Amino acid sequence: MFENLSDRLGGVLDRLTKQGALSDSDVSTALREVRVALLEADVSLPVARDFIKAVQEKAAGQNVTKSVTPGQQVVKIVHDELVHFLAGDDQNPGDLKIDNAPAPILMVGLQGSGKTTTTAKLAKRLKEKHGKRVLMASLDIYRPAAQDQLAVLGNQVGVDTLPIVKGQSAVDIAKRAKQQATLGGYDVYMLDTAGRLHIDETLMQEVEDVRNVTNPRETMLVVDGLTGQDAVNVAEQFDGQIGISGVVLTRMDGDGRGGAALSMRAVTGKPIKFVGLGEKMDAIEEFHPERIAGRILGMGDIVSLVEKAQETIEAEQAERMMKRFQKGQFNMNDLKMQLEQMIKMGGMEGLMGMMPGMKKMAAQAEKAGMDDKVLKRQIALIQSMTKRERANPSLLQASRKKRIAKGAGLEVSELNKLLKMQRQMGDMMKKMGKMGKGGMLKQAMS
Ligand code: GDP
Repeated sequence: MFENLSDRLGGVLDRLTKQGALSDSDVSTALREVRVALLEADVSLPVARDFIKAVQEKAAGQNVTKSVTPGQQVVKIVHDELVHFLAGDDQNPGDLKIDNAPAPILMVGLQGSGKTTTTAKLAKRLKEKHGKRVLMASLDIYRPAAQDQLAVLGNQVGVDTLPIVKGQSAVDIAKRAKQQATLGGYDVYMLDTAGRLHIDETLMQEVEDVRNVTNPRETMLVVDGLTGQDAVNVAEQFDGQIGISGVVLTRMDGDGRGGAALSMRAVTGKPIKFVGLGEKMDAIEEFHPERIAGRILGMGDIVSLVEKAQETIEAEQAERMMKRFQKGQFNMNDLKMQLEQMIKMGGMEGLMGMMPGMKKMAAQAEKAGMDDKVLKRQIALIQSMTKRERANPSLLQASRKKRIAKGAGLEVSELNKLLKMQRQMGDMMKKMGKMGKGGMLKQAMS
């Protein structure tokens, strides 16, 4: 999968990483080529445009990291943006909601997309990987032998199928499946709806009726990954009419251009949860945006190189700060950096919890209401100080305090608390600093 896109992007970015210094125009040229590669992979124009814009913005705001070339850094940005486009904010793509047994899963899609195959593949997975009891039912009363096809696959993977009763409507079969799943103590029941060649009103209505009587926990759309933009259009239409919770892209074992995968999330807002990779019953994989982005770029080594370099820079910063602390220097700039770090690391508890001996203080801070809001107010107070005041907080007398508090829109009492905190932290840092270079602080920050 993604061979062509991968070759194209790999080529463009490879050239970029070989250059030592990188001008803005080098980057723009490369990104123009990236855009062409995306369009050739059948990514829609607006998506390709957004993608390039996002990369450009990130590249512009980025500090040059030592020990990697700017080109390598651009590769990393492209990689991260790919992951973002593939995943949105999803953390667990392969998770299906199957609580409240029996949980209904509705499978929808066009005829020939691989819906029946995928239903059986997912049932097998739920059974083998998650130990679930699954019942499958085919609601396809139009295509001859569709119900038999599911029964055969059920046999093959060892998953029960609902006994076939000729002449029932799709809604009746769905109701019967629900009843059987409840009585039979199944964890999940999967409804394989009738496929259609095109989106067609009557069949859509039927799926809607089935949805209304079963209230599915997941409505999975199965689309053929080889159809590129069409797959995305189909997803938009199904989502508009039925509402889908996720997508399975099939035939990703073929030499698809990959555009469907890249545009899906950006256009529909729905996550790709699985990819089909062949006709066999275990040819299905959870969709891992990181892995896919890696495969598309084929530049995993550069990505990790840049990550390492960035970590090193952070470690160097910490080292510099530590040296200041050891000399007993801890002014408002240091405090501001600490506060910002705390917000980044999940609040006071997150940071202090990592430093030995500070757990108790963290608990106290929690009690005192040191949440993000408080941290942000404290940062606002520091921002309201002049450079000199920040470097030397002992300058702060009554009139200065009043001005600073007013500037931040806060009370002087709050500023006093901040000053006390700075003094206390400064004292503590001094003590820790005296414990020597190999001391507690070093340990805590490494
Ligand atoms: P439905 O009409 O949507 O139910 O489609 P089917 O499940 O009957 O699948 C149609 C054909 O596509 C079958 O021959 C499947 O074996 C094949 N198929 C399904 N998924 C995949 C896949 O991920 N890769 C490949 N290569 N073939 C697939």
